[in-house]
Amino acid sequence: MTAPSPTTPVRTRFAPSPTGYLHVGGARTALFSWAYARHFGGTFVLRIEDTDLERSTPEAVQAILDGMNWLGLQHDEGPFYQMQRMDRYREVLAKMLAEGTAYHCYSSQDEVEAMRERQRAAGDKPRYDGTWRPEAGKALPPVPADRKPVIRFKNPLDGDVSWTDVVKGQITISNRELDDLVIARPDGTPTYNFCVAVDDWDMQITHVIRGDDHVNNTPRQINILHALGATLPHYGHVPMILGTDGQKLSKRRDAVSVMDYLDKGFLPEAMLNYLARLGWSHGDDEVFSMEQMCSWFDLSHLSSSPAQFNPEKLAWINNHYIKAADNQRLAQLVRAQMLELGAGFENAPDLAAVIGLMKERVNTTVELGQAAMLFYRQPQADAALRQQHITDAVMPALLEYAQGCQAVEWNKAALSALLKEILAKFALKMPQLAMPLRLLLTGQLQTPSIDAVVELFGRETVLARLSKIAE
Ligand code: GLU
Repeated sequence: MTAPSPTTPVRTRFAPSPTGYLHVGGARTALFSWAYARHFGGTFVLRIEDTDLERSTPEAVQAILDGMNWLGLQHDEGPFYQMQRMDRYREVLAKMLAEGTAYHCYSSQDEVEAMRERQRAAGDKPRYDGTWRPEAGKALPPVPADRKPVIRFKNPLDGDVSWTDVVKGQITISNRELDDLVIARPDGTPTYNFCVAVDDWDMQITHVIRGDDHVNNTPRQINILHALGATLPHYGHVPMILGTDGQKLSKRRDAVSVMDYLDKGFLPEAMLNYLARLGWSHGDDEVFSMEQMCSWFDLSHLSSSPAQFNPEKLAWINNHYIKAADNQRLAQLVRAQMLELGAGFENAPDLAAVIGLMKERVNTTVELGQAAMLFYRQPQADAALRQQHITDAVMPALLEYAQGCQAVEWNKAALSALLKEILAKFALKMPQLAMPLRLLLTGQLQTPSIDAVVELFGRETVLARLSKIAE
């Protein structure tokens, strides 16, 4: 399927309901909408759909803004809050009533329920029976006293609603399937699909990219937009993201909040790169910058089948971006975590230099902080390990190495030469000297190359720690 090539300026939107954190699926549709706008030099609008007063919270709004901010998905307009647009909705409701595309319906809740029961019993699809729907030549029942009406949309009775979904292809729904939707409640507050249609119209949205859980809303919104005389946006409904078990991502099983990934030590560029590949592709490219994505992104390579969340692949991409990241930046990111772990940064090696040495093999900045602790805590070697590695046979060589460290030029090449010289002199193999050195300097056996570790600690610390050989 080829994407429509836009002739009018592209305007996309992300329209979250602030009922929780920004989740992975939402972030992905936000990314697609953002990238599409960027690709065409268009406008990306942020709209907060906060009309569900019971479930919307200011904390959730903030969580969404934080998530977007962390990912760098900057909006060009907004955020617009639906709750601040109530006057506009009332104005449009009045216009529709005046134009006859909407009507007051005085059927009570009980009456509507009873009518549905009858329809179900007769094997029909339950829907509003049109009692209050005005038609030419039809007499309406007398208005019941003291009853506030809802406003219903006068949905076309015949014909189809049809659109070419940029992801799913042609979708056609018969108008017979659609009810006369309630667009305002008895207290006058507008309902969900109506607000979305008015907003997309007012905000001149050209491309609606959203999750396919909204596919059923689209024919209703299209009919309302038609009634308003609006130009229809293009719609693209992206399939949901599945968890590793092939089921829908679930709050309980999967980390679904985008900000959880910040806490777990993922970099935003890794997250974006990974999210981009969930349901979109550019050839075989797996690793790309957001600049590249924006230059490549179109709607024709969105997949119509669900993508599966793969934590290993995300970890692999994160490892790639950690290796590519500036060491100072990474140092900033891990510092607080390391302080919590009890790191002592005084008279200790430069953190950025340590990061440079440790970042190759970690998948997250959390792992990076843990690994870097090697240089910022007092070594506490296990007595058994010391006995095993610091033997009488290697003691003279260790002492001579310590001696050599007093005068050697302090760089990796010179330190390496010193170590080799001593190995030769005492006829030892590298691990026989490297392991006790690791234990003495760091308290553990697994470290990067011993020369790099020695160099980073610096002469003073190395001499101090080696002076404890005999203990
Ligand atoms: N507010 C809806 C949601 O959070 C999205 C509506 C839309 O994109 O049209 O699921």
